[in-house]
Amino acid sequence: MNAPYPWLESSWQRLLASRARPAQALLLAGPRGVGKGLLAQAWAQTLLCESPQPDGSACGSCPACHWFEAGTHPDFQRVTLLEKTTKEGETRMATAIEVDQAREAVEFVRMSTYRAGYRVVLVNPADTLNIASANALLKVLEEPPLNTVFVLVSDQPRRLLPTIRSRCARVDIGLPPAEQAAQWLSRQGVDDAVNLLALAGGSPLDAQRWVGSGELDERRGILEGLMRPDQMDPVSQGERWKAVSPQTWHKVVYKWLGDLLAVKLQGGVRFNRDFSDELEQLGKRADLAGLLALAKMQAAEGRTLAHPLNRSLQLQAWLIQYRHMFD
Ligand SMILES: [Zn+2]
Repeated sequence: MNAPYPWLESSWQRLLASRARPAQALLLAGPRGVGKGLLAQAWAQTLLCESPQPDGSACGSCPACHWFEAGTHPDFQRVTLLEKTTKEGETRMATAIEVDQAREAVEFVRMSTYRAGYRVVLVNPADTLNIASANALLKVLEEPPLNTVFVLVSDQPRRLLPTIRSRCARVDIGLPPAEQAAQWLSRQGVDDAVNLLALAGGSPLDAQRWVGSGELDERRGILEGLMRPDQMDPVSQGERWKAVSPQTWHKVVYKWLGDLLAVKLQGGVRFNRDFSDELEQLGKRADLAGLLALAKMQAAEGRTLAHPLNRSLQLQAWLIQYRHMFD
């Protein structure tokens, strides 16, 4: 079994080297979109495999590997965010790992193993443990039963309780080198890998998710409006952009403003490299105070994304301010 992605090779080798005496509590930490979840899963399978390969990795063909891949291994427990049905009948992802889930995991590790090997609990995203569930888990993390391995995965390890963090051996996974990530994306059939990678802030898996999601077209539509502030009519534009999800709009605009600021402050375009020429021109024209004010407002908007009160009015106000920067 290889590392799930080429840029994870050294972390993977480090884990394999510890297979004889694995950390009982392991934290895989790093930015989103670098494959930590799959790495954690490969590690769990490797620990559970009953006829590992010479390098220690899972064979992929023993009964344990089959059960693992089918999601039915009796000595493996996944603790993650669950889908919930609201009163209105909508399905939503929970925002926290609940205490009942943590208690279930605690009970699980206190039972004897089915296969006389390891018992593995994978917690992902570990930073969504709330105080109660973190405290419930802490009890077993402090003194893990024999042959028990906890693997925690987190994009935001600082949000974990310090007592949990300090119990874990930590493997940090950074963004892959840009060239390696772009090569990988090209091999996945992604055109324009370099630009897309920049847009995704260096995360190859986020870049891959952009492709075919429809978001790229929405982004282009938004940027084509933003690159021509003089021809923009805030009222009709606001009406048109109302249909774009606030999350997508925010993400696109936030990076656009970041690039304008970078140009203004004599830096280079970081995210929207396919619009470099337009950004260079606009960046020079933009009023710095206005740009800073708008960027600040945009950052604040990021915290209230789920509740736009009157979306088209909000967009219009924003657009008027944006256009004003270039007067
Ligand atoms: Zn196996």
